[in-house]
Amino acid sequence: MLVIRYTTQQFEYWKATLKEILKHVRASILDGLEVSDVVLTDVRKAIDAHTLSGGQRPGLAVVLVGSDPASMIYVRAKRKDCEKAGISTRDFDLPIDTTQEELLTLIGELNADNEVHGVLVQLPLPPQIDEIAITNSIKSSKDVDGFHAFNVGRLALRQHGLRPCTPRGIMALLHYYGIDAKGHHCVIVGASNIVGRPMGLEMLIQGATVTTCHRFTKNLEHFVRQAEILIIAVGQQGIVCADWISEGTIVIDVGINRLENGKLVGDIDFESAANRAAWITPVPGGVGPMTRAMLMLNTAEAAGIFINEPHKQSPDV
Ligand code: NDP
Repeated sequence: MLVIRYTTQQFEYWKATLKEILKHVRASILDGLEVSDVVLTDVRKAIDAHTLSGGQRPGLAVVLVGSDPASMIYVRAKRKDCEKAGISTRDFDLPIDTTQEELLTLIGELNADNEVHGVLVQLPLPPQIDEIAITNSIKSSKDVDGFHAFNVGRLALRQHGLRPCTPRGIMALLHYYGIDAKGHHCVIVGASNIVGRPMGLEMLIQGATVTTCHRFTKNLEHFVRQAEILIIAVGQQGIVCADWISEGTIVIDVGINRLENGKLVGDIDFESAANRAAWITPVPGGVGPMTRAMLMLNTAEAAGIFINEPHKQSPDV
C-alpha cells in the first residue's frame, strides 16, 4: 500500500489552496420556479383527465379580508396558479371591518357547498377576528392550507392528510433534486404553527434528526453550525449569519423581507451563503412558488384527485 506523508507545512498549503478554490464554488440552486411549474403541469394533467372522464372540476374559494398589499399580491398569484392548474376559483374580497361572525357565516356556507373543495382564508386577518377560530372553522377536508388542528394532528401521527403547504413544498423540492433527508441533521430556525413546527414533523417523518430553534434558543450559532440541512423561517434579514454555515450544507431560506428599495430578500445573505452551501434556495424563486404549487396539489387532493409523480414523496419513518 502506498502511503503519502505530508509535512504539516504541505498540509496547511493544500488546505489553504482548497479553501481558496472552494471560495469560488457556488452552491447549486434549488429552483422553486422550475419545480413548481412541473407540479402545476402534473396537477393540470390529472385534473383534465379527471374532468374528461366526467369528474367534477376542483373548486377553490379564496377569501381576502381587507386590502393588505402583500396579501393582495399573494392572493392574485394564487388565483393565477388556479387558472394554470385548471382549478376554478370563487373570490371573496371582504371589507376590512368584516366581523368574525360574518366571516364564520361565509365559511359555513362554503363548507356546505359541493362545488367548493378547498377554502382558503388569507392570513393575517384584522385584529377583530380570531385566526385560530377561523382556521378551525374550515371543514378539515377542505382545509387546503393544512392549518386546521385535525390536519396538523394527522401529520404528527404520520397519517396522510392535507399537509401545510410550505413544509410540504420544501419536502417536494428536496425530493425533486434527489436529496434524501434520512439520517441527516436538520436544523430549523423558527417554530411557527404554519412553517417551523410542521416542518419539523415532515423532516421527522422523512427520517431526519431534527433540532428546532426559536426566540428562546441560546447560542443559535452553535446549532446552525451543526446543520446538514438548514431551514430558516423567521422573517428577519440576517438572523442567521452566512459564516455559521458549514461547508456543504443544504440551505432552505423561507423568510421574505422587503428592503427599503422594494427588493425582496430572505433571512440569510444569499451571496455569502451560496459560497458555503452545497444547495440553496433563492429568494424570491425558491420556497414561495413551491408553497403555492402545494396549495394546488392539496386542492386537487381535496377533490379526490391524487397525483403520483416524482415530486411526490411519501412518509416512511
Ligand atoms: P412567524 O412570525 O409566525 O414565526 C417566526 C418564528 O421565528 C417564530 O417561531 C419565532 O419564535 C422565531 N424567532 C423569532 N426570533 C427568533 C430568534 N431570534 N431566533 C430564532 N427564532 C426566532 O413567521 P412565519 O413562520 O409565518 O414566517 C416566517 C418567515 O417566512 C416570514 O418572513 C414569512 O414572510 C415567510 N414565509 C414564507 C413563505 C413562503 O412560501 N416563502 C410561507 C410562509 C412564511 P417563537 O415561536 O419563539 O416566537
